[in-house]
Amino acid sequence: MSFRLGFHASSAGTLEKTAEFVAGLGGNTFQIFSSSPRMWHAPPPDRTQALLLERARTKLDLFPLVIHANYLINLCSADSGIRAKSISAFRGEIERALVIGAEYLVVHPGSSKDLAIEDAIKLGVEGLIEAAKDKASNRLKILLENTAGQGAAVGCKLEELAALKQGSQDNVAIPIGYCLDTCHLFAAGFPIHEADGLAATLAHVEQLLGLENVPVIHTNDSKPAFGSRVDRHDNIGKGQITIEAFDRIINEPRLRDKAFILETPSEDGGHARDMAALRNLRRPG
Ligand SMILES: [Zn+2]
Ligand SMILES: [Zn+2]
Repeated sequence: MSFRLGFHASSAGTLEKTAEFVAGLGGNTFQIFSSSPRMWHAPPPDRTQALLLERARTKLDLFPLVIHANYLINLCSADSGIRAKSISAFRGEIERALVIGAEYLVVHPGSSKDLAIEDAIKLGVEGLIEAAKDKASNRLKILLENTAGQGAAVGCKLEELAALKQGSQDNVAIPIGYCLDTCHLFAAGFPIHEADGLAATLAHVEQLLGLENVPVIHTNDSKPAFGSRVDRHDNIGKGQITIEAFDRIINEPRLRDKAFILETPSEDGGHARDMAALRNLRRPG
């Protein structure tokens, strides 16, 4: 089984160039934004570029491709204007992901502000259903990402992610799964930095989400301390999670077939260094 490891790549011009850049650094999977992550409006996808990307991915063996949705999207917002914009923006994300041929589209559940969590989840469910209306795929999967629990973020508890999927999946013709972020788990109080804590967390994931529904692991170290609820990524081994913990994560038998995507600081060759560190840790399985 090949070790799928890559990183979030900022656009290197065209989609094809971005793929070549990732492969050049030694990645065999990657994540991108399909438009500016901080703007509501996005141009339609370029079908020629999408074809060239597909060809490059086949040639360079870059699988899977993950698209990370725009940061502005908040399907759980109590503000009806923001919700309407979020639904239409997420619909655009789905349309672009389908044209680009991505395997996964990762989205943060959003933030509930003054709402009770059950009400926020109800809005999130309705938002997912509306955004995906009349869209279907057996290639693309929508992945709900766990959060650090900063502010009123929905999705720092696995029960919340499970409720979003359970509430919407029967009315969405695109399969729904989950993306787990190591930094967010650690910040939200899952003790994945300890051997026992990782085992307990995985048991919890297995019970509430099902590990088969978690194809992607955002592999980030954390600058802030355990349980801080603050989301700040660090390079592998430089943060509070520690290299010993990443050794356990990367070699965990139940996680071996996952795609590990770094969202760590890219300065001074950070991604190449982080990938090398993780590759060194990985033992033949
Ligand atoms: Zn992430
Ligand atoms: Zn984060």
